Amino acid sequence: MKQKLFDKFAELFGNSDGVNFYFSPGRVNLIGEHTDYNGGHVFPCALTLGTYGAARKREDRKIHFYSMNLDSFGVVEASLDDLTNKKEYNWANYPLGVVWAFAEKGHPISSGFDMVIWGNIPNGSGLSSSASLEVLTGVILSDLFDIKDLSMTDLALIGQYSENNFNGCNCGIMDQFAVAMGKKDHAIFLDTATLDYEYAPCVLDGAKIVITNSKVKHSLVDSAYNDRRNECAAALKALQTKLDIQSLGDLSIEEFEANKELISDEIQRKRAKHAVYENQRTITAVQALKDGKIEEFGKLMNQSHISLRDDYAVSCDEIDILVDLAWAIPGVLGSRITGGGFGGCTVSIVKDEAVDTFIETIGKAYAEKVGHEAEFYTVDIGDGASRLA
Ligand code: ADP
Ligand code: MG
Repeated sequence: MKQKLFDKFAELFGNSDGVNFYFSPGRVNLIGEHTDYNGGHVFPCALTLGTYGAARKREDRKIHFYSMNLDSFGVVEASLDDLTNKKEYNWANYPLGVVWAFAEKGHPISSGFDMVIWGNIPNGSGLSSSASLEVLTGVILSDLFDIKDLSMTDLALIGQYSENNFNGCNCGIMDQFAVAMGKKDHAIFLDTATLDYEYAPCVLDGAKIVITNSKVKHSLVDSAYNDRRNECAAALKALQTKLDIQSLGDLSIEEFEANKELISDEIQRKRAKHAVYENQRTITAVQALKDGKIEEFGKLMNQSHISLRDDYAVSCDEIDILVDLAWAIPGVLGSRITGGGFGGCTVSIVKDEAVDTFIETIGKAYAEKVGHEAEFYTVDIGDGASRLA
């Protein structure tokens, strides 16, 4: 990959002398969905799928971005003197947003730069190619401009800040955190209220993580995401009339059950129920994994799906078909929707000997029912973003 990127870089910018090489992963969330903006826990891991970058400083104030995945956009040129989101920049608004966020957070960069990228994360499928690109840009800027006082957590926060405020997506911290802080063969147990985290070994004995891409993305996704955030905020407000809590993640299941009648709106009550139960489920699931009880971990993943489908209402027919098919296959320990919802991917834990059957059976049945093919990725857990040799 490095050679391909460097050849392209030389073709576009004269030569590849002094160019540096970087990688930033995608991520999959194993459990703890829609808890990250509710002050709860999440349990994502970085993937070996990701975004590669080649970059070099310039003498002037021009910034050039080129994606080998989106050749048709050519070289996107921006200027350090005009860090604003422009429609014609298209995908390059993600890396440009990070340049902007560096300046906003007191780390303006001193000159322009050239950057060529290529990635193998399916875009827009819930595996966080956008966070991967943001954190990649953060690592590149810190390295090229020798900015030493930003930790990887800071780069995650800057990535989130740019996605929220430059690109208008009100995402929580999970994606950028997982991408920045990933660790090979470990998942990250993150408390999104405090950013306290712990690495949990995730070498599944005799099983694999299989991601299935439904290849659908319903347009509801952005509006529903904002609706869910608002519904949870309203439910929290209702609970705060009596309880001294900062977020839904502060509640145990017992506390929620004893006080849920404070939420008079039935829909809001269901959303809050998901946020509370999913948070507790995540804590239980991580303990199960630590204890080597993968079967129990898988069952909790299944419960997570049911809760996201019925109480949080962020699944869709295609995803439910994938999950139902998976649940029917012997050797599937758990399967659920992952990511924001309304399409995208499922994540499943599948015993080694059942992986081929899983892909064949679901592949065939899904194509018959839905009319197009799903895609499957048997993934490994990799390290977070960094400069490579
Ligand atoms: P997700 O983060 O789930 O993959 P998003 O819609 O948040 O989906 O982000 C996808 C967008 O990120 C793409 O439409 C594109 O603008 C940008 N992007 C991600 N990876 C690349 C890449 N390799 N080249 C160009 N743009 C990319
Ligand atoms: Mg994204």
